[in-house]
Amino acid sequence: GTIDELDARISVCRACPRLVAWREEVATTGRRRSFAQEPYWGRPVPAFGDVDATRLIVGLAPAANGANRTGRMFTGDRSGDWLFAALHRAGFANQPSSMSAGDGLQLRGIRITAPVRCAPPANKPTTAEKATCAPWLERELQLSADTLRVILTLGGIGWDTTISTARTLGWEVPRPKPKFGHGARATLLTPNGPVELVGCYHVSQQNTFTGRLTESMLDDVLALVRELG
Ligand code: SF4
Repeated sequence: GTIDELDARISVCRACPRLVAWREEVATTGRRRSFAQEPYWGRPVPAFGDVDATRLIVGLAPAANGANRTGRMFTGDRSGDWLFAALHRAGFANQPSSMSAGDGLQLRGIRITAPVRCAPPANKPTTAEKATCAPWLERELQLSADTLRVILTLGGIGWDTTISTARTLGWEVPRPKPKFGHGARATLLTPNGPVELVGCYHVSQQNTFTGRLTESMLDDVLALVRELG
């Protein structure tokens, strides 16, 4: 299979009843008033970006009125505004902002994915939902293994899922298990060579409003990701 085929299969997945119900409810009766006239995707969100990228960003899950609306990872909410502005400053994105699926946004040298593909209530997937969705990330890492050099995880869930997925794939992961933190690093050994894992606080408003994650912190991490990739 190819990445495009994988994305097509992901976008019709209905394996998690609670998330299927939530993503569809938000997309129909639960729309945010400011988006009431807009089409909502309301389905699992495939990865977005350059399919031949050497760098992969692993976030958390689509936001109910963000990627669950636009069908594109991180697009259409405050977290996405932050991330795409930084990706533009770092030379990975052709424009600094992104609100809808048809806005011409393109990524170069980087791709964005998530360990959970459907919007969860309160942005909190259950342990079972994380486990159910993990094989999609596994296939994605497998399919990108030839080119992949760096994985940037936004938040601890992305970090943990990437490490457990790497183990499932038979990649060598340092022991004891590397701990997530902002600026944390670890090297994963794949049959195609090393992949550098980099941790960064999530671009959620909880972190960006409080100054736990600043623009310069994110810029520094993206500069490292560029250098490593
Ligand atoms: Fe399928 Fe993942 Fe969505 Fe669950 S979260 S329904 S496994 S795509």
